[in-house]
Amino acid sequence: MMSNNKFKILIVEDEANILSFIKANLEISDYQVICAETCALGMMMYASYHPDIIVLDLGLPDRDGLSLIQDVREADTVPIIVLSARSGEMDKVEALDLGANDYITKPFSLSVLLLKLMARIRAVLRSHRYSEKNEGNHIGKFQFQDLMIDYDKRQVLVDGKEIDLTQTEYNILTFLSIHAGKVLTYAAIIQAVWGYSDYGSVKKLQVNMKNIRKKMGVTPGEKRYIVNELGVGYRMLAEDEE
Ligand code: CA
Repeated sequence: MMSNNKFKILIVEDEANILSFIKANLEISDYQVICAETCALGMMMYASYHPDIIVLDLGLPDRDGLSLIQDVREADTVPIIVLSARSGEMDKVEALDLGANDYITKPFSLSVLLLKLMARIRAVLRSHRYSEKNEGNHIGKFQFQDLMIDYDKRQVLVDGKEIDLTQTEYNILTFLSIHAGKVLTYAAIIQAVWGYSDYGSVKKLQVNMKNIRKKMGVTPGEKRYIVNELGVGYRMLAEDEE
């Protein structure tokens, strides 16, 4: 095969029009695409092709897509992006907590879906590579637009000016930046920053986040640097969106 060094993407999706549109476009972008229309077939393809990334629809004919996340996570850490027609926050939180890396709520337009998916694929592949190389060892710098985090000096600069963060605020921001592009649930951030899992701490996290954004010069509601995924968690931007 010519395509040995291409990124392999497994798409598990039962809607033929979505599947063929995404497949054709990802192939143009030089990804190798493997398709499955059911969970059972998805697991088979996963086992035989070892994809670099899995794009998973939740509403599948044989089983709930959530069960595939569980089965795959028992074996390895391959990034999983959930594609869902459901817009319920509990589904997103459940998918993320089961080990999905990201999710996209299916929009009306196929081209919007494709654009979002390609951005998430790039972000997931980037952060997956980063965490494999640098887990627990945040040497270097994070840079996005005019935001710069220097992990060695524990310095945060916006537009060249240092901003003064508390220890907790710095820890939250660093955790988000290490996983830039990925939605982190409230529970995951609280666990990483305070060391315990307590849903009651969401308020505390939100207060800290509000202060961080204010210090960064972001006005309420503005999608800059960090996106609030309502009812789910936060995501640090890794590339320009919308
Ligand atoms: Ca479906």
